[in-house]
Amino acid sequence: MSPLIRQYKDIVAYKLPQGALIAFHARNLEVAEISEELWEAFVSERVPVQSDFQSLQSALSPQSALDVWNNVDSPSVRDQDLGSEVKTLTINVTQICNLHCHYCAAGGDGTYGDPIRQISIEKTFPQIRFFMDKLKPGQKFSFIFLGGEPLLYPEAIRGIGQYALSLEKAKNIQVSFRIITNGTLIDQRFVDLMEGLSPSITLSMDGDPATNDLVRPQKNGRGSSEQALLGLDVLLKNRKSFGSILIHSVFNRKNLNVVQAYRFFQQFAVDGFDFTFDVTEKDEQANLVFIEQMKKIAQLAFTAGGESELRRIAFFDGIFSTLDAQVRKVNHCGSGKSLLSIDSRNQIFSCPLMVSHKGEQVGTGIELNLQKLEPLQAPLIGMNNCGRCWARNLCGGGCLYNHKATTGDAHTKHPTYCDRTRSLIFEAISYYKQTRAEGAFHGEDSGI
Ligand code: SF4
Ligand code: SF4
Repeated sequence: MSPLIRQYKDIVAYKLPQGALIAFHARNLEVAEISEELWEAFVSERVPVQSDFQSLQSALSPQSALDVWNNVDSPSVRDQDLGSEVKTLTINVTQICNLHCHYCAAGGDGTYGDPIRQISIEKTFPQIRFFMDKLKPGQKFSFIFLGGEPLLYPEAIRGIGQYALSLEKAKNIQVSFRIITNGTLIDQRFVDLMEGLSPSITLSMDGDPATNDLVRPQKNGRGSSEQALLGLDVLLKNRKSFGSILIHSVFNRKNLNVVQAYRFFQQFAVDGFDFTFDVTEKDEQANLVFIEQMKKIAQLAFTAGGESELRRIAFFDGIFSTLDAQVRKVNHCGSGKSLLSIDSRNQIFSCPLMVSHKGEQVGTGIELNLQKLEPLQAPLIGMNNCGRCWARNLCGGGCLYNHKATTGDAHTKHPTYCDRTRSLIFEAISYYKQTRAEGAFHGEDSGI
């Protein structure tokens, strides 16, 4: 059963099926349990406008308490600051793939419409130096290696990684690496090549072998699960050589069994699961099923292992982190701000999934097109007209690529995206409230 939802300005409240009343203050990132009396105040049409909170503390009616709470700005909550430097580079070391996943966001075959077997390492070095030169000592810089399938050219990952590590020492910058791979090419040679880099790994697999083989076949039509699971086994046997290991699964109307995938993946000693909805999918029914499936795995995880198990699921971990940090997420991601993407021709784009979109190119080599980048610098929640959405500071305005793929415009949201996001944020907030004892707001005692 869905919870009942009420909203007053920046406060949203909902009644869980079990009867508990939870409220969330959008600007202050405050989660609180509220009284039945305050819950009733949400439906009043005449909420008085009050400005002097001090004089109201002694005798607050539920309506004025709600208004006062809405008007309070917590001094301890701040906006996310991505800074003015690029701190994450995604690099397509190849733009070819050995699989043919049905929903591939990289042009359907890993090429983005521009197949390239290998990036030029020599052309990439000056780009890395260019961006790392702009950082101050002590700052962090992360690399995400993508493709196509990046393990078709692991020597590039090693070469670029070693170069970045040499700059890390010289500049006192903390460098980290992540590789996003289909897992089918992970073997001992790859492990040896990665020595000293300790990359984190995101292994893409969409469920148990029967399901995964249908949606992620090899180019010859055979399933890819057997090799991917062998790859995962190699990773887990060489745990010390790697950072965090995540399994990433994509769901859409052809594969909606998130629960089955979660149960299957639980047998592996990985650090977490990133279950996402296909960025191009806008089927309403599929969206609803995905939401319900995500709620079910949240319940399974929380029942089995409380907060730590729930936070192995990336979405819930992200919301918990933002609420704990008390930092308003005004940008869903760093696209065009703190994150840029280099394709296999060393061209620069604002997002790894927009690599094929010529209009989105923002540079080549070490030349950045500042005119193209300038419009991307404003906070996304403003650019995407999310100012009235209660979930804006946890969502950050959503994924530009997803918006573009579903509505044709990077700043226009599809209703399925927002429904999904808000539903799952609701769910995360409910669990958050269960795990954090403080912060109760009952109106009458004005715990604001
Ligand atoms: S849920 Fe939708 S409206 Fe709300 S912040 Fe995210 S993208 Fe914007
Ligand atoms: S716009 Fe979407 S796909 Fe692109 S970097 Fe941001 S979150 Fe990722």
